[in-house]
Amino acid sequence: MPYDDRPTQASAADIVVIGAGVSGLNALNSARAYLPSGSRAILIDAKDHAGGMWNIAYDYVRLHQPHPMFTVGAMRWDWDKPRDYLARRDEVRDHLARALGPIQDKLALTTHFGHTVTRCEEIETPDGPMAEITFHPNDAPDQARTIRAQRAVHAIGVDYHCADPLPTSSDRVLSIIPQDLSRALTAHPDAPVFVVGGGKTGMDTVLAAAVDPARQITLINGSGTNFVKRDMVLPKGLRRWFAGRPMSMLFRDLATRFDGDNESAIIDRVRARFSTAPDVDNATFLYGLQSMSERRRVDAGAEIVMDYFTDVEDTANGPLLRLRGGGTIPVPEGSIVVNCSGSFFRFAEMAEMKPLISPGGAVLSINTRNMFHFLSSVAGFFTPHLFYRGLLRDHGFYALDHDALFRADRRAWVGASATQAYLNQVLCMNTLPVAVLDRCKLDMDRWFPMHRRLAAAMRMKSAATRDIAHCSASLDRVADRFGVLCQPIT
Ligand SMILES: Cc1cc2nc3c(=O)[nH]c(=O)nc-3n(C[C@H](O)[C@H](O)[C@H](O)COP(=O)(O)OP(=O)(O)OC[C@H]3O[C@@H](n4cnc5c(N)ncnc54)[C@H](O)[C@@H]3O)c2cc1C
Repeated sequence: MPYDDRPTQASAADIVVIGAGVSGLNALNSARAYLPSGSRAILIDAKDHAGGMWNIAYDYVRLHQPHPMFTVGAMRWDWDKPRDYLARRDEVRDHLARALGPIQDKLALTTHFGHTVTRCEEIETPDGPMAEITFHPNDAPDQARTIRAQRAVHAIGVDYHCADPLPTSSDRVLSIIPQDLSRALTAHPDAPVFVVGGGKTGMDTVLAAAVDPARQITLINGSGTNFVKRDMVLPKGLRRWFAGRPMSMLFRDLATRFDGDNESAIIDRVRARFSTAPDVDNATFLYGLQSMSERRRVDAGAEIVMDYFTDVEDTANGPLLRLRGGGTIPVPEGSIVVNCSGSFFRFAEMAEMKPLISPGGAVLSINTRNMFHFLSSVAGFFTPHLFYRGLLRDHGFYALDHDALFRADRRAWVGASATQAYLNQVLCMNTLPVAVLDRCKLDMDRWFPMHRRLAAAMRMKSAATRDIAHCSASLDRVADRFGVLCQPIT
């Protein structure tokens, strides 16, 4: 399209999607079901390729869930790997990028990679509400252009960015981010590794460093993170037929127990019933999955310290790592300190608050402030279907400000996010046709044979009225207690 700095009078597109991560691609793919063939679609992303954060995550990251359950709509993976294979970063990125093929088969798609969107808003026009989007090449803000579209989906998701290395007073240690780990391990084969943060990134980092059994590894674990046993929600072999627990039932367990006040009891339950380390008093839960064998490798490979990193200082006896609780750990000179201290909701400023759906229905937003589901992928799949069918508003679905609640109280965030996820899932079951539900291959219940999936679905259906009332009341209580956005979508 030619460069133009004035808004075009007619719409440039039937749909514009901002963000080519798993949420934006799911959103575009879902919207395609409602647009006539040949409709004009535009996809804009600041990165040079589709795949979102899987372009920039550390190279040893793997999916938590088996690869078939991380996709765009119903798109299958283009290989014959075992069903339980946990795909690597580049494999996930390439799989997501393949989604552009089927989308292009139906829509006249123009992509603008390497472009930054600075504005995406609903405007009133003589033809009704439209979306207006301003964007420019990343390195040329003076070449901004503004286009209009019938609809836009602003799908920036969790907006993952690489962290910074932890600042240390000592320059006798190597402070890095996970993206630099592989290089650092090769360059310093004997250096001890201090992993700061015990979430998914921290666990992955311990396992990556522990490939060399001689490597000395210390995990500075903060208040500790619980991981759900992968072997329980995704049992292997014949156990799929009778053992384990479908993910929807785990969510139901938490959602029907959370009452808006008892977040500590919910974390205790996660730890005691579902986690890989029931005897360790880990304080948080971020929905990570871990197998028992991974857990054993972490425990065997690293010394675990339950405290927070503050600094590494030089002393007469060499570098010393200082902990928030007042303790210290001697650090051999040349040690590697890896910042794995969290990817979510860690910016100094909260993300911009945007309505999940604009007043005239022209802009749908998938962001962390006004979120449909803590997994942006799931939000990307369902919200366009609900939106195009006129079901998103006034049907009891809840939006939640995950960013604000997480910062206010991480335990309450667990209770509320599980409750919201379950409530919105039950409402989707009640409102959307089976044919649409069946196209959501993100659903982890699909791991189980049909009879177990049906049993879980029937349980959800039969208790729906009671569960919806309970979950809505719990979420209203969260809104009252914390003063964050947590309300029905109207
Ligand atoms: C380390 C890590 C591991 C994870 N592992 C898993 C996992 O195993 N399974 C799972 O289900 N989830 C996992 N997640 C959760 C993860 O957030 C989602 O899986 C998902 O990939 C996020 O997709 P997204 O589309 O919401 O965001 P992103 O992938 O971040 O995509 C958003 C896109 O929007 C673009 N964008 C943002 N702002 C602008 C702008 N102004 N202009 C233009 N473009 C813009 C960005 O460039 C980006 O490409 C993981 C998250 C992290 C951080």
